[in-house]
Amino acid sequence: MSGSPIWHPFTQHGLAEEIPLVARAEDALLHGDDGRQWIDAISSWWVTTHGHCHPRIMAAIAEQAGRLDQLIFAGWTHEPAEQLAAELVGMMPASLTRVFFSDSGSTSVEVALKMALGYWANRGEERHRIVVMEHSYHGDTIGAMSVGHRGVFNRTYAPLLFDVATVPFPHADAVQVTYDALEAACSAGAAAFIVEPLVLGSGGMLVYPPAVLAELRRICAAHGTLFIADEVMTGWGRTGTLLACEQAGIVPDLLCLSKGLTGGSVPLAVTLATEPIYAAHLSPDRAKMFFHSSSYTANPLACAAAAANLAVWREEPVAERVADLAARQSARIVALPGVENPRTCGTIAAAEVPGGEGYLATLAPRLSAFARDHGVLLRPLGNTVYVMPPYCITEAQLDRVYEVMAEGIAQLD
Ligand SMILES: *Cc1c(COP(=O)(O)O)cnc(C)c1O
Repeated sequence: MSGSPIWHPFTQHGLAEEIPLVARAEDALLHGDDGRQWIDAISSWWVTTHGHCHPRIMAAIAEQAGRLDQLIFAGWTHEPAEQLAAELVGMMPASLTRVFFSDSGSTSVEVALKMALGYWANRGEERHRIVVMEHSYHGDTIGAMSVGHRGVFNRTYAPLLFDVATVPFPHADAVQVTYDALEAACSAGAAAFIVEPLVLGSGGMLVYPPAVLAELRRICAAHGTLFIADEVMTGWGRTGTLLACEQAGIVPDLLCLSKGLTGGSVPLAVTLATEPIYAAHLSPDRAKMFFHSSSYTANPLACAAAAANLAVWREEPVAERVADLAARQSARIVALPGVENPRTCGTIAAAEVPGGEGYLATLAPRLSAFARDHGVLLRPLGNTVYVMPPYCITEAQLDRVYEVMAEGIAQLD
């Protein structure tokens, strides 16, 4: 064995690509231990919202660390969790009254799926089929993979995945096909439909309009099929509003939040549920409780970080920063040379690099390496290039990101 013992996620160690070492970060900037700097153009995989090491969030973690580190959360509670849950319920749509904590986006999805099945089972109804959207991504645990796109990322694990019903992505010229497929699945008694509102992230930053989201919600409601909004990526301002669902004027039955929940500082997730879903699990019968926990459920340090994030949202002009970044992004992506189908959704900008199949197969790693060597952290999805920076990114930094992206695309052949 040579080098580091670390086995990195989504990394082919056989290719021996450079793995830069980052020593510290602030705002949109990462600093290497060797003096190099990188502009974090993808928010460290979509988590960093306000900026790295936001002083208020860092201070909240430090302060909490002096009081209570960790506590069993089955049958016990603590102030950071109580405060955070109460504030979240106040901030989120009124019908989402219950907060279940977990540790990652994937687990928040697993929890939502289990709650949906628990709801139907405890009501004595035979509904267990899950409906998903083509090209979706909901995480990498077995259940989350089962409801996500089937491809090279999970082909090996296919024997472990459960069956779902899939509706086509709502392409602008064929939304009715999606509606009809959802209608058919719901009328056949589907338990729940899970979807990423407005933007399918890992699927290639595929965007669809709020009116379509509203119609999908309407179809589910008409058949009692529970609507699960996976806002793990889209939440916390990413699409221009606190939640993407707001733009469609809809409220889901179950809402998954993670990534920006702590401003992107430490791991935490929540699944918010409506009162009927919670009530379906209430009984003198212990067999009807919600059977889920992980060791670090509602870790106090993470809850303190999330509470500080909520304070930042309340007290800093976050909505203005988001609107400002959205405008800056859309002006730049349309001016990016060498790409097709430029699009934005709030603070997210994306486009495709056209080309032949062999060329496209290596485009993402080559462009990532070029950007890395020119001071920018980028990670294209196949031939989809995108920029999703922290909201504090400066004018000059954003210019540099687009400059490096244009140079990187131009030198590909
Ligand atoms: C990132 C992501 C997840 C998984 O979150 P993890 O914290 O990586 O487990 C789930 N859903 C969506 C939409 C995501 O973007």
